[in-house]
Amino acid sequence: MDWDLGTFGTFTRPTCADCAAEAPEIDSYYALIGRPFSWRMTRHANGDASILVKWRCVPCWRTYKVAAEGRSGPA
Ligand SMILES: [Zn+2]
Repeated sequence: MDWDLGTFGTFTRPTCADCAAEAPEIDSYYALIGRPFSWRMTRHANGDASILVKWRCVPCWRTYKVAAEGRSGPA
């Protein structure tokens, strides 16, 4: 998986895009992605050249993933 975390620069604790939960008390995106936290990040084209980054906690990621697979899966 190519997270390309170097593009984020300085770490700022994100909040979950869906439930607004705050990230755990950690100091890097790598820690957030790793166990035991296992948050997940998605990047979205933002209409212009910028990229919108969204973070999700584990329960919200599960929900998001099911919804995304439902949209892209076979009819
Ligand atoms: Zn959440």
